[in-house]
Formats: sequence, structure tokens, C-alpha cells
Amino acid sequence: MTQEAGRTLSNEEIKQELYKEIELKLDISVKGINIDREELKKLDIKAGPDLPGNRSGVLPPWNFVNSRIPDDRIGGGGFGQDYIDPLYGLEVEDGKPYIYKYGRNKTKIGEVEFKERKRPEILNRLTSDGVPFYSIASINDAGQVHVNYSQICVLKDKGEDCYFCNYGVRNAIVKNPKQVGEVFSELYLAGVGKHLNLTSGFMQERRELEYYLDVAEEIRKRTGLKEFRGTAVIGAPVDLSQIEKYKEAGFFSVRMNIEIWDKYIWRAICPGKHNHCGGWENWVKALERAVEVFGKGKVASNIVGGIESKKTILEGIEYEVSRGIVGSASTWRPVKDSFLEGHRTPETYWHLDLQKKIAAEYKKYGFTYADLHNVSPSAGLAVDIFHVEEEAFENGKLIPWRYPEAVKA
Ligand code: SF4
Repeated sequence: MTQEAGRTLSNEEIKQELYKEIELKLDISVKGINIDREELKKLDIKAGPDLPGNRSGVLPPWNFVNSRIPDDRIGGGGFGQDYIDPLYGLEVEDGKPYIYKYGRNKTKIGEVEFKERKRPEILNRLTSDGVPFYSIASINDAGQVHVNYSQICVLKDKGEDCYFCNYGVRNAIVKNPKQVGEVFSELYLAGVGKHLNLTSGFMQERRELEYYLDVAEEIRKRTGLKEFRGTAVIGAPVDLSQIEKYKEAGFFSVRMNIEIWDKYIWRAICPGKHNHCGGWENWVKALERAVEVFGKGKVASNIVGGIESKKTILEGIEYEVSRGIVGSASTWRPVKDSFLEGHRTPETYWHLDLQKKIAAEYKKYGFTYADLHNVSPSAGLAVDIFHVEEEAFENGKLIPWRYPEAVKA
């Protein structure tokens, strides 16, 4: 029970309201919001590259005023620029932004607020070779340190990039592993960096292993930790014995996103992964091997939700989750400059039903909320639904994720 503005709310009522909000935010993410620059000028918000962690032209994260969902969970979706015919819009009234739904009738949905990201002071420090920390890593409110060590994915150069992906810049800078190790270590030692998420596209000749081991060595040297809370986001290695090397180097968990479960569709949609990672069967074997090495809940794999049937996605999720792998599905939004630009994602109810079924798999196979945060980034909407079902509420809101304090080895 929660007392709220003179009324008493049961957990069941809070759950119903949370589900309404989840569905609404999902619908906004699927159908999109029109951004009218003239309306935005009425607000004092920064948008663009001057805002830390913000891509040019993309607005800061947002949330509904009085939302029951923590700011870092669901929000920010829908304000991308890739929607051709968005159903929602933003209008400013008396200096306050409101979301409207258009269509047959115009409906006022609710007031929103933008969360201006302030760069933590520590990110203004310089590495030993004079590079600002903020150019190497970003950090969220929970303490997850995100490092995208390069914007390169060599699959793009080969014309073998995954059909849903628009990632990959030719001749992009590769951040030096020493810089990455130094920045994470400093953030960790200052008590603000809790979990490293280390990711990129594919490197030339699949040299990811070498890179990750160099980062890990630097972190071990600087922190004294034998194992650090860090996720290596990688492609499945052809030589499966490489998986042990990530563990020995000190990584806590590993993510290998298979993207598509149906092996025939996989081959068509992910030609580069098929050609350079030993095929679909090897990817699945790599996931199984990784669970043997890292343990239950420390291996994750995402499927892009909406390209293949729900039936095959759920077969994949059950296969993975029953073996201790955190299987998840993202909500596919076809992006500009991908091979699937101009396609459509399934309806909101399709995505919501998929996420509820995935959340039920986590419960069936005994995952805890903490297990679902061992691998970064966490498995998304199904994790929030799992949390709602656990009735993890604080003052009528869903409790935000907090990392446990790391234990020094
Ligand atoms: S999803 Fe595919 S194309 Fe995109 S970065 Fe990853 S491996 Fe490269």
C-alpha cells in the first residue's frame, strides 16, 4: 500500500498504472514523435553536440512529470529523427512541454520534462597522455561506464553489415586500451564507476580479443582487482577457447548478441556474422561455452525484436534462458542508412506481448533482478516488466537499479 496525494494505492493499482505507462512509452517509441523546432524554441533546452553524451540533433532524455518509472529506464525513445509519419507530437503551452497523440482525434497525453545531463566533474580530468576522460567514456546515474572504443565495424566496409544496423564509420578513431583502462579505473577508484560496458563493432581480422585483454590488464594494474565488474561485448569467436581468456583477464560477464534466432533468416540478415563467426551453430555453441566459463546470468544475447516471427524469437529466448543465458529482445525501429530503412516494425501490442513473455521466462528459470544486471546494458523492457511483477516499489514508483559495491580481491 502507498499513500499518495490523499489516496491509498494498493500494489495491484500501482502495477496497473505502471503497465499503462510502459505501454504508452513503448507506443511512443514505436510510432514516434514529431519534433517541431519552432515549438522547441519556446523551451530552454540544449540539444546537439554541446550536450555531454548527446548526439547531434537528438533531444536529452525525457520523462513524464510524476512518472512511476525511473528516469534511466524507459524514456528518450521516440525523439529520434527517423520517423516518416509520427503519431505523437510535442507542443509547448505556458512554457511547459506536453505530448499529444494525433490521429482521428487529438489527445493530450501528459506533461513531460527533459533531463539535462550534467557532465560529472571527474570526466573533465585528463588521461596521462592528455585526453579528456569524457572523450573516452560516459557514465549514467547508476554508475555504468559506457565505452564505445571505436565507431568502426569492418563488416560495413565489406558490405556485410547486419541489415538492421547503421553503425560504422570508416577511418574512425580507435581509443587506446590504456586510456580506456585508465579512465575506468579512475572512475572506479573514485567510487562513481561501478560497471564497465566495453563495446564496438568488429575490428579488422577480428582483433577484439587482443584489445580487450590490454584494457583488462590496465584495469587490474591500476585497481589491484583480479576481477572487475565489466562486460565484454563481443562477436562469437571462431576459436571457442578464447572465451576463457576474457574470464582470466578479469571480465565479469560477456555479451554476444545473436540478433536473429531463426538460422536461415540469420544468414540473410547478418551475413557478416555468418561469414566471420563460424556460422549460427558456432554462435550458439559460444553462448553455451560462455555460461560454462562465466556462470548463469553472466552471459547475455539479444535478438532484434520484430524482424522474424514471435514464435522463433521465443524459441530462442527459452533455449537461452533455460541454459542460464540472459536472452532478450530489443524493440526494432528501422533506422536510416540501414538496409532495412523504410521497413516497419510490428505493432505495439506485439512488442508488449513479447516482452511480457520474456519476463515470464526469467521468472520460470529463477533469475533475480540482480542477475539481470550482471551483463550490461541490461536486458531492457522485459527486465522492467519482471521488476513490476516483483512489485519492487518505493513511494509508488519502480525502484531504480543500484549496483552493489565491488569487493576487492
Ligand atoms: S550489429 Fe552487425 S553491422 Fe552493426 S556493429 Fe554489430 S556486427 Fe557490425
